[in-house]
Amino acid sequence: MRKPMMAGNWKMNKTWAESVVLAQGISNRCDDAWDAVDVVLCPPACNLKAVHTVLEFDRRDIHVGAQNCHWEEGGAFTGEISIPMLEDIGVDHCIVGHSERREYFSETDEMVNRKVMALVAHGVTPIVCVGESLAVRDAGTYLEFICNELRADFAGLEPEEAAKCVVAYEPIWAIGTGRTATPEQAQEVCSAIRAALSDLFGEEVASGMRVLYGGSMKPANVDGLMAQPDIDGGLIGGAALSADSFAELVEACL
Ligand code: PEP
Repeated sequence: MRKPMMAGNWKMNKTWAESVVLAQGISNRCDDAWDAVDVVLCPPACNLKAVHTVLEFDRRDIHVGAQNCHWEEGGAFTGEISIPMLEDIGVDHCIVGHSERREYFSETDEMVNRKVMALVAHGVTPIVCVGESLAVRDAGTYLEFICNELRADFAGLEPEEAAKCVVAYEPIWAIGTGRTATPEQAQEVCSAIRAALSDLFGEEVASGMRVLYGGSMKPANVDGLMAQPDIDGGLIGGAALSADSFAELVEACL
C-alpha cells in the first residue's frame, strides 16, 4: 500500500505574514486522520522557516518542502540555496524540475538529475516533475516524451535511491489553466510512468513509489483522479493557496 501524498506548491505567492496565516489555517484543519496522508507545504524559500515554525509549534506532522535547490553544498552560486541550508531549517522535501523552472529558468534534465542525486544523498525527498506540452500531447508522442524525461532525470540512481523519490506527472497544458487532464488521461500516463520505473528499477521499487498528478487539481475533480489505481496524490498549485480547498484535497485522500 502506498501512502497518499498531497503537496501544495505555493509558487511565488504569499508574503511572510500571509504564509504564516495559510500554514496556520491548514494546521487548524489537521487532525489525527491526516496521519494517513503525507502532507507537504512548499512556500517560497524566504518563508520556509516561518511555515516550519508554525507547524512545529502546533506539533503537526506536516512536512515542509522547498520549490527548488542547488546541487552543490555551498560556494559561489549567487541567488541559490543549498540542500544543507534547507535541511538546517527543517525542510525534508523539495520539488525538482517543475515545468515553470524548465521553461523560464532553462532547467535541463541534466540539472534535474544532479539535484535529485544530491537530495537523495542528503535524505531530502525529491518530488520530480515530468510532463508534456500541448504540442507534444497533440503530436501523440507524450508517453515516449515523458518516459525519456524520467530516464534522464533518474539517470545513475540505484533502485534503493529511486525508491526514496516521488514523481509528479504534470501535463503543462493543465497547469494553472483550469483545464484538468481527465482521470483516464492522467491514469494512462501515471501507469506508463510506473511501467518505466519498473523497467529502470524493478517491479518492487516501482510499485512502492508514489506517482502524483498535478494540473488544476481541485476539490471538484479530486475524487475522480484519486480513484485511479496509479495516482497516489497531488501536487497542487492554485488550490493550495486556500486552507479550505487544500484541506479538502487532503481529506479526499482519507
Ligand atoms: C503546479 O504548479 O504544480 C500546479 C499543478 O498548479 P495548478 O494546480 O495551479 O495547476
